[in-house]
Amino acid sequence: MKVAVIGAGVVGLASAAALLDQGHDVVCLDRLGPMAERSTGVSRIFRLAHGSAALVDLAREAGAGWARWSEAAGRPLIRDVGCLVSGAIALEWMACMGKAGAPYEVVGPDWPELGLPVRKAPGVLLHDVAGGAIETVSAGNYLVGRLGRSLRDAVVYALEERGSGARVHTSDGLFDADAVLIAAGAGTSPLAAQVGIYTPTVLEHHVRFTFATSRGGPLRSWIDETPGVLSTYQHMAGPGRWTVGGLPDAASVAWEVGRDEAVRASREAVVDYVREHLDGVEPTVLDELYCTTMAELGDGFHLRRNGPFTAVYGDNLFKFAPLLGDLLATAVTAGTDDAVDYM
Ligand SMILES: Cc1cc2nc3c(=O)[nH]c(=O)nc-3n(C[C@H](O)[C@H](O)[C@H](O)COP(=O)(O)OP(=O)(O)OC[C@H]3O[C@@H](n4cnc5c(N)ncnc54)[C@H](O)[C@@H]3O)c2cc1C
Repeated sequence: MKVAVIGAGVVGLASAAALLDQGHDVVCLDRLGPMAERSTGVSRIFRLAHGSAALVDLAREAGAGWARWSEAAGRPLIRDVGCLVSGAIALEWMACMGKAGAPYEVVGPDWPELGLPVRKAPGVLLHDVAGGAIETVSAGNYLVGRLGRSLRDAVVYALEERGSGARVHTSDGLFDADAVLIAAGAGTSPLAAQVGIYTPTVLEHHVRFTFATSRGGPLRSWIDETPGVLSTYQHMAGPGRWTVGGLPDAASVAWEVGRDEAVRASREAVVDYVREHLDGVEPTVLDELYCTTMAELGDGFHLRRNGPFTAVYGDNLFKFAPLLGDLLATAVTAGTDDAVDYM
């Protein structure tokens, strides 16, 4: 089959690579080049821990995919430092891991191997032993290498159904294909709407900040939703660098607030948090990573299909990338229901 994949973020690249493995004729189109929008940056959290047993199972499948990719890439694409979860979600996520039969430990603040740069650790923590941090640049390079000449720089302007297939209008000319995968991140909704697929349109601002840390030894990835404290996710973003994403209240990162004001408010909240709660982390921002997210989506992912077009959307997709690639390649070529939600 001839397949056009729109988007060379981690999801489009993983899907295009899986389609090539299945022997299809693939072109993967991106307006900015690979890994340039939501997939940019040096690291992401990998975790099995989720708020449903179904997502824990899917993350476990993704973990097996990451192991395969690491072997093929000749280097570990996940730093297996573990992932800690604390606060309001810890007990709920523990129950989901138990139901899915996934490995985890319950640890306390005095655990000698805690590996968090904190002044005072939360009382109870879920240790997701299979979690860690994804080496995103290596993952992107590995996928780009697999795609070779299938990858093209081009803006996709319009999509139209033609006979039993599709026509893709791009800055690099017209592409006719038997099937089209729309994996365009923030660009998915306007393209999908042209072909009768409706995906959420309400965006929010999100930004994470990187700080210098003097803490030696491997630090674990961490998601903390302790009541009364800024909700955060945190992990190592390279040697001596600790990154903190704050999840402030929805009003301060709403789309209407504007990027500058949302970044300012997030920076203020995160720097205050670092100063007050972290130990061995210098509260001066070294780097910030901005992206749009979709309001109220959370974990999980969603497939929508209409004729030759399949669209995918979701937040926090990086950790699922190997699984998503395989699932989407099959959905696009063998067909899927018009709407499938993995939650
Ligand atoms: C700060 C931050 C922290 C995160 N933390 C985590 C985490 O810890 N764990 C995790 O699993 N996930 C995390 N995520 C989310 C994860 O990174 C994203 O969900 C994932 O990278 C999305 O990949 P994607 O391929 O769907 O989208 P993208 O990477 O945005 O790729 C879409 C591509 O489509 C292209 N495109 C769009 N429109 C068009 C068009 N019209 N024509 C041509 N090309 C087009 C864009 O240029 C882009 O390259 C985080 C994201 C950010 C930004």
